[in-house]
Order: sequence, then C-alpha cells, then structure tokens
Amino acid sequence: MKHSPFDIWLFDPQDLHAEQDEALKQHLAECDSCRALAEAWQAAEAGMLASEAMAPEPGFAHRWQQRLALARSKRRRRQTWAVLAGTIGGALVLTPIISLRLWALLAAPGEAALAWLDRLQILTLNLEALRGFVAIVLQSLQGLSVLWWVALGLGALWISGLWAGLLYRIAFKIIPNGVSR
Ligand SMILES: [Zn+2]
Repeated sequence: MKHSPFDIWLFDPQDLHAEQDEALKQHLAECDSCRALAEAWQAAEAGMLASEAMAPEPGFAHRWQQRLALARSKRRRRQTWAVLAGTIGGALVLTPIISLRLWALLAAPGEAALAWLDRLQILTLNLEALRGFVAIVLQSLQGLSVLWWVALGLGALWISGLWAGLLYRIAFKIIPNGVSR
C-alpha cells in the first residue's frame, strides 16, 4: 500500500483542503499502520498541550529544592571526608612517634618509668577534664541529625588527637633529662 502523502498529512490535518481531508480519512480507514501513527501523534499532541497548560512552577521549585538539598549533602559529605582524612593522617603521623618513644622507654626502664608516671598523671587529669567538657557539649547538642553527629564526632576525634599530640610534646619538654637517651 502506498502511504505517501498521507503519512505527512496526518501530522497537520487541519491544514488540508476538503478533498485531501477526505482522501486522508479514507486512507486511515483502510491502512492500519497510518491509523496507528495518526493515533499516536494525536495522543502525543494532547500530552504536549496538557504539559504546556500546566504551570511549571511547582515541579520546577521542587526540582530546585531537591538539587539544593543534594548540593548541600554533597558538600557536607566532602567536609566529613576532609575531617576523616585529617584524623587518619594525624593518627598516622602520631602513631610512629609515640611508638618510638615507647620503644625508647622499654629499652631504658627505671628512671624513665618514674618520669612516665608523672606524665601519665598529667595526661589523666587532662583527659578527665576533656571528658567532662565532652559530656557538657553532648548534653547541649541533643536532637541533631545523624550526619551532624558523624561530623561532630569526627571533629571531636580530630581535636582530641591534636590535644593528645600537644600534651605529649609538652609532657616531654617539661621534664628535663627525661627518656631521651
Ligand atoms: Zn498508510
């Protein structure tokens, strides 16, 4: 069956002359494939008209909000990862230093052990103070989202790591003739 020119006409039936319109109607009555095409086109056209009539505002605003939330959570995740990387990096730097010092202590016990007891006491007192501080902060920060808790926890870890490193250095500098050998 010859479909031309009906397969073109069916896209714009309102522009046809009366005899063309008649011929198209006759062809559509006989031809299944052109009728299917015409019906699909009418449905698509109706859908386009309906979506044009719909106000774009609600969908647009919703998408915009979603994108904003996504960007926010991405940024928060990046910050969390940065804090985590910093914490791990700090631990990686501190661990060998502390291990070396401990090894030196084990190699030269006696006097060094006494000096270490002093330092341990200072450290314990400071840790007690830190624990009290953390307890107060935790009490005042109830009702936050999980992500914030994770970020805060990692931040606290990072700060404690810094503090521990600082205390460690101070402790080793305060006492003269310490473990150094
Ligand atoms: Zn046809």
